[in-house]
Amino acid sequence: MPGFSFAAMSELNERLTDLHARFERALEVASDERSLEAARAQYLGRSGDLAAIRRSIGRLPSDERPTAGKEINDAVAAMEELLERRRVKVASHAVEEALSRRVDVTFPAPEARLGSTHPIRHVIEDACTYFERRGFAVVLGPEVEPDYYNFDALNIPPEHPAREGFDSFWIDETLLLRPHTSPMQIRTMQNHRPPIAIIAPGKCYRRDAVDARHHFQFHQLEGLLVAEGVHFGHLKGMLAGLCRVLLGAHQSVRFRPSFFPFTEPSAEVDTTCPKCGGSATACSMCGGSGWIELGGAGMVHANVLREVGYDPQRLSGWAFGFGAERIALARYDVDDIRRFIDSDPDFLEQLA
Ligand SMILES: [Zn+2]
Repeated sequence: MPGFSFAAMSELNERLTDLHARFERALEVASDERSLEAARAQYLGRSGDLAAIRRSIGRLPSDERPTAGKEINDAVAAMEELLERRRVKVASHAVEEALSRRVDVTFPAPEARLGSTHPIRHVIEDACTYFERRGFAVVLGPEVEPDYYNFDALNIPPEHPAREGFDSFWIDETLLLRPHTSPMQIRTMQNHRPPIAIIAPGKCYRRDAVDARHHFQFHQLEGLLVAEGVHFGHLKGMLAGLCRVLLGAHQSVRFRPSFFPFTEPSAEVDTTCPKCGGSATACSMCGGSGWIELGGAGMVHANVLREVGYDPQRLSGWAFGFGAERIALARYDVDDIRRFIDSDPDFLEQLA
């Protein structure tokens, strides 16, 4: 306020009261820190209105100047307090506004990601459907089992070297994480009269070093058929049909002689490589062999049938155990088994 001047204390008081009132109105309309600062500069700043009043003190009689100086200082203090109160109010209002924006229930939500069926589950469900249509029941069992169900009842007595081959995770001296789903064969046969036709899918555990083809946790698909007159030809036909359902209409299977304590005779089961169709020239999936190993199979050992109280003279049966991951690797042309448990939704959705 250039040129402002006064000649008496009463006039000074009037000016200060007017300034205070105008400052108060300016603060009331200031809605953010920037406009508050502009008001402060205009009224309280070095070249502001109050500084102009202070400069005019010189025109007063000298004995009135100290009182005038005190009046002005009091006015500044009052205006600064007013400014501070308004600053707090504006800041808390800004916080409230920010908070209300964060919980704005009318704001459109990001699209929810629902996930997809896991490829291993697809394999298991398709296999179970195949067997259910042929009269098999799906059975599920515990993942922690006594060694009796994992080994003894399956013709693997305590001193049998085959126990070592399973590389088990032992919980204590007799309990272990099941290395195969075969305990469900024993549990089912002990609790049901023949004929038995089951498919037992589920998680299994072995102390395998983890690499692109192995993992300490995997899924097994196990099948068991026990009745009168069951023979190896039934098994081969069933498994060929399964491979065609899971991997393609032109799949074939081959059996290679092998040994398992719980089957006799026993076989490793391979199917033609679905990637190269068995032609096998520099194929990344089968390594050039033209075949993919799925697991083991065979005719149920007479000792196993005796263990559950079945008469091996009257009854016969076959069993097989396939790795669901091996089927999934071939089915979806995946190069690394670890991708199935990486929980990468982009990868899993591609296969859904
Ligand atoms: Zn191949």
